[in-house]
Amino acid sequence: MELYELNLYEVIEGLQNKKFSAQELFNSCKNRINLLEKNINAFITRTDENLNYKNDSDGILKGVPTVLKDNLCTQGIKTTAASKILGEWKPPYSATVWNLLKDSGAILMGKTNMDEFAMGNTCGNSAYGPTKNPNDITRVPGGSSGGSAAAVSAGYVPFGLGSDTGGSIRQPASYCGVYGLKPTYGMVSRYGLISYGSSLDQIGPFARTVRDLQIIMSVIAQHDPKDSGSFRNFTPNFTHDPDANLKGKKIALVKEFQNFTLDEPILNAMQNVKKILESEGAEIIEVSLPVISRYAVACYYALAMSEAHTNLERYDGVRYGYTVQDATSLKEMFERVRSYGFGSEVKSRIIAGTCLTEPSRCDEYYVAATKVRTLIAQEFAQAFKQTDFILQPVTPSLPPKIGELDEDEMKGYETDLYTLPVNLAGLPGLSFFTGYENKNNLPVGLQLIGSRWSDSELLNAGVAIERHTGSPKIANGGVK
Ligand code: GLN
Repeated sequence: MELYELNLYEVIEGLQNKKFSAQELFNSCKNRINLLEKNINAFITRTDENLNYKNDSDGILKGVPTVLKDNLCTQGIKTTAASKILGEWKPPYSATVWNLLKDSGAILMGKTNMDEFAMGNTCGNSAYGPTKNPNDITRVPGGSSGGSAAAVSAGYVPFGLGSDTGGSIRQPASYCGVYGLKPTYGMVSRYGLISYGSSLDQIGPFARTVRDLQIIMSVIAQHDPKDSGSFRNFTPNFTHDPDANLKGKKIALVKEFQNFTLDEPILNAMQNVKKILESEGAEIIEVSLPVISRYAVACYYALAMSEAHTNLERYDGVRYGYTVQDATSLKEMFERVRSYGFGSEVKSRIIAGTCLTEPSRCDEYYVAATKVRTLIAQEFAQAFKQTDFILQPVTPSLPPKIGELDEDEMKGYETDLYTLPVNLAGLPGLSFFTGYENKNNLPVGLQLIGSRWSDSELLNAGVAIERHTGSPKIANGGVK
């Protein structure tokens, strides 16, 4: 077994007991990256040229290689959000999550590819070319955090971070066959995350086991006065319970979703996991989410685009990144910078967001969407009076071929149906691996959703499921 194949908890144990050195682990991961990166394109920027900075920390992650999605600010290291508009921008400060990981001893191997400003679900809307799915390099890895998911799936690193505004951790986790957690809104500081939809954005981890997610959450789930949404007045506890079971727990399926079409392998996985849950002592019930199943997609895109249009106003060629020197007026400069700097998906969302919030239409669209959002949160709150968790798909289908969805933007938006309601209500969602389907050997993931602040219980429920499904294999990235 090579060192790059070890899960995070095994890496930590091996380093602490001096079974191997941080340098040996680093070399193993680096060789893995060198072997596969030309096939996968998971990185925008590599920082693994050497053990690149002195890290004196004696923290739990001492010597553990990791990757960060390229919308997480890293002081002095290029951060692009996969956009040309940020050019060679090097942030003057680091995201809180990176400070926490670094202070625990983590080593940065690079900044990973994503859909530009996190808008998309294929990792194809990037100014740096698409990332490929390491399980089948003709397919998308999912998005927007596709680079981090691919890096963990291909064995570049034992864990990585992404962000999730409407599914961007859970969907690529499921497409790449790894675990991904979108924490409760406020559980992880957003300070230093390049904003997309600020009321929806949340940072979270990818790893190859649930226990690994628990280790990372225990490092990054800290109160941060620099994020006004950060939790306060309690201490989260992400202790791994190896004996976790679901005795006495209720797990709900959503009545309305059962009429929606799912690919066969996902349907089969739902059946299998239902049996697993029952064998762990859970009772399967049904909840009804009529507003969510009908209106969540429209509500999410109205809000996400409105917030994005405001958040992206700041990229004007004056303060950050790309600029032009020879404009004859400020207006010309803004126009040229923004026309060239943003990709087409970002531009169309900025325009849509401008229309949705324009004074004469604002009540009809933006304000209406905020009201629907309240109904959605209430509908979930009602459901969680009846159940402990909700089981549902992450996506209705397996990862598409690269380019397959490009023609049909609306279809792309609709595939987020199962992930984005969670962000609208600020809930935690765990995307977990269930196995490989028979036809193309692609990984199949499902999702377990908990009530607000139940992240810790949610992960231990994941431990109970993982006992039956096992961990994913490292994907070969097209190299036999
Ligand atoms: N696909 C969704 C969107 O494009 C979600 C993206 C995300 O979570 N960042 O908005």
